[in-house]
Amino acid sequence: MTDGLNTLVGAYVLDALSSVETERFERHLRGCPDCAREVGGLRDTAAQLGQLADRPAPAPLRAAVLSGISAVQPHPAHPPLHRLIRAQAWPWQARCWCCSADSLP
Ligand SMILES: [Zn+2]
Repeated sequence: MTDGLNTLVGAYVLDALSSVETERFERHLRGCPDCAREVGGLRDTAAQLGQLADRPAPAPLRAAVLSGISAVQPHPAHPPLHRLIRAQAWPWQARCWCCSADSLP
């Protein structure tokens, strides 16, 4: 395939294409068994995921996830961007790239 239409399979299955794109993709789909197979597989997967959403998680899994959440530490805050840039800046760079400040703290 060289027309790139195979990249639209996911969007097609999710009904996220415009009417023009859908028409073009469906024309392609009639002659492309690879894309037809992928569309079928994605539709099956989406249907299975929809069925899973109706089931409650097994109690041990739910308990493990909930207890693990309390142990999660948030990532430390990033230093201001201009500090990062300053730390990596080349000697001849005099301005901060993010805020155009003449002098860096
Ligand atoms: Zn195709």
